[in-house]
Amino acid sequence: MTQRFRTRAIHAGQPNDPKTGAVSFPIYQTATFAQSAPGETTGFGYARTDHPTRRALEDCIASLEGSEFGLAYASGMAAINGVLALLRSGDHIVATQDLYGGAWRIFTKVYEKFGVQFSFVDASNLGEIRNAIRPETKLLWLETPSNPLLKITDIAAAAKIAKDAGIITVVDNTFATPCLQQPIALGADIVVHSTTKFINGHSDVLGGALVIRDRELYTQLKFYQNAIGAVPGPQDSFLILRGIKTLALRVREHCESAATVADWLAQHDLVSRIYYPGLASDPGHALAKRQMTGFGSLLSFELACDLETTVEFTRNTKLWTLAESLGSVKSLFCHPPTMTHASVEPEVRRKVGIGDGLIRLSVGLEDADDLIADLGRGFEAL
Ligand SMILES: *Cc1c(COP(=O)(O)O)cnc(C)c1O
Repeated sequence: MTQRFRTRAIHAGQPNDPKTGAVSFPIYQTATFAQSAPGETTGFGYARTDHPTRRALEDCIASLEGSEFGLAYASGMAAINGVLALLRSGDHIVATQDLYGGAWRIFTKVYEKFGVQFSFVDASNLGEIRNAIRPETKLLWLETPSNPLLKITDIAAAAKIAKDAGIITVVDNTFATPCLQQPIALGADIVVHSTTKFINGHSDVLGGALVIRDRELYTQLKFYQNAIGAVPGPQDSFLILRGIKTLALRVREHCESAATVADWLAQHDLVSRIYYPGLASDPGHALAKRQMTGFGSLLSFELACDLETTVEFTRNTKLWTLAESLGSVKSLFCHPPTMTHASVEPEVRRKVGIGDGLIRLSVGLEDADDLIADLGRGFEAL
């Protein structure tokens, strides 16, 4: 019988060390591996190509996403770059329009330079995906829930449209984590993670990962991983593997607190709009309920005030830390227009719906009542 998620998080890819019995997977702090004759290796040759601690991490993440094929990277952006290496000049990507600012940046500022073309669509509307597909389209790039507006895309339906057109579907699953959403089971070909976020979960390591549905695509991506070289070291691999062990427990608590915070915000006079798929009134609610096993702990809201007052709000809280990033034990919040999405041109931001009063919360594992009291403090002074 296949083991369940929480068991795999602790066991997949990380057996007790057969030599010493160590119950914690070793950090093999080495860059190269001895060969008994040229080409005769233990299976490991040079650490950029393959490394045992990294491999343990790769196998564990792959298992959690329901595949055998995982690759780990030095950051989420390195993982994204690893996917983009599949492309040639003239290729086209259809992507979620309100996506991670760094993904938008590498698409438009790095790969456009090499002749790759992009169309950004509201992927929660399948018609927009269908209309944007061209003969040169190679990838459909989805982020769901999206960033920062938490829109939900129907992964199964979108992946079917892509598959029928011979297009690879990529899902950035950083926000949902494999605990809440399993894109490969829904038809995606590649899952992207910034393991910096929930998977590691403690805001102390950068990392990224890909999980790939089939061996052939995995072999191509592994070639690029080695050729490009942005791999995590053994210490970082170990720390991420350590974080994974409590992923399911953390995510459950994260979700519960986020729902409490969302309910509180929904009552507040100064909040003109909330973006959170857990609210029954959210346009993505029914789909999220079907596609996910929980609503996550990211939520955004629009303050009914101008830019200056919104910035003032960010100064008034004590417990909430104003910082880029998300998915940490510590509650973080950010002002997307000036922080995570500052690299997106103002007119694009406005078109997408990222207003000046938008605040994004990543609800951490502190006591929810304390978090709410602190938000209250932020509002009081306005
Ligand atoms: C943070 C993030 C990334 C980039 O990951 P890094 O580890 O910061 O390089 C990509 N996608 C999403 C959704 C993210 O939140």
